[in-house]
Amino acid sequence: MSGMTLSAASLYDRVQRVIPAIEWPVFSDDIDAILKLKRERNAVILAHNYQTPEIFHCVADIVGDSLALARKAMEVEADVIVLAGVHFMAETAKLLNPSKTVLIPDMRAGCSLADSITPQDIRLLRQRYPGVPVVTYVNTSAAVKAESDICCTSGNAKAVVESLGVPRVLMLPDEYLAQNIAKQTDVEIIAWKGHCEVHERFTPEDIREMRAAHPGVTVLAHPECPPEVVAEADFAGSTAAMSDYVGREKPASVVLVTECSMSDNVAVEHPDVEFIRPCNLCPHMKRITLGNIRSALERNEHAVTIDPTVAARARLAVERMLAV
Ligand code: SF4
Repeated sequence: MSGMTLSAASLYDRVQRVIPAIEWPVFSDDIDAILKLKRERNAVILAHNYQTPEIFHCVADIVGDSLALARKAMEVEADVIVLAGVHFMAETAKLLNPSKTVLIPDMRAGCSLADSITPQDIRLLRQRYPGVPVVTYVNTSAAVKAESDICCTSGNAKAVVESLGVPRVLMLPDEYLAQNIAKQTDVEIIAWKGHCEVHERFTPEDIREMRAAHPGVTVLAHPECPPEVVAEADFAGSTAAMSDYVGREKPASVVLVTECSMSDNVAVEHPDVEFIRPCNLCPHMKRITLGNIRSALERNEHAVTIDPTVAARARLAVERMLAV
């Protein structure tokens, strides 16, 4: 979305299925201000699939899962990147665009996976498993990426693990993603005990109850869910893969077993599909609002910085992933 000729009034049609008309005036003033600020500051907004629809559909220039955001961040020609997502995503954008200003509207937008592991943990693991490559999920700090051989996302984890041509890898920090990938490959995977606080809460009983309440519903689950949950689903994949699945297969009714805003954002594009919406909120993603995106652009806050030595090593791990 260019934002050049758009205004909040012209954008409402896009989100009317998911934002009631009575709520719209709360958003429209901030949307107009953000569209103007983006032009003035030559800024772009990158928004993750878990951002709310008024951000995702009305002010974002680039949307996607963390892999798509990482890739597209490299093609950005703006002076300023605002990352509507969590802190590790803003760090990844900064890694790939060191000369640009990268802003995150709320520094506290963290991630339970990123918080589950430290650089010191990885150094200890390397002592314990000498010579075993370390594959690190992008949901980690730059300092953790710097200790890794290569990064992966939920969309490319299997390809990354198999690209290394070794019998055994350490895959960190998401235990469930590691277990789900282990089922798809002959490479032995050693996992860490990190979990996504949103996806770990889904249970196999949740899925069975959804199927009983909505006969015929198609169930799509994120691979950060426990393997027993993934086993109950019709399909498991990254947020991008789920979105593609809905577009391709056009199920009559579907449930996306992931963060709440994902269904709202995908529903906007597929009016013929019924979305069943039991979901869990990510409190970190929800720290980003139109109000703090606006003040980020007004005040140039909060700029993401990374120690240059850490950045150089972390960038290598991300670039190796992008090359797979
Ligand atoms: S949804 Fe899970 S993995 Fe994503 S930011 Fe929130 S806690 Fe982290």
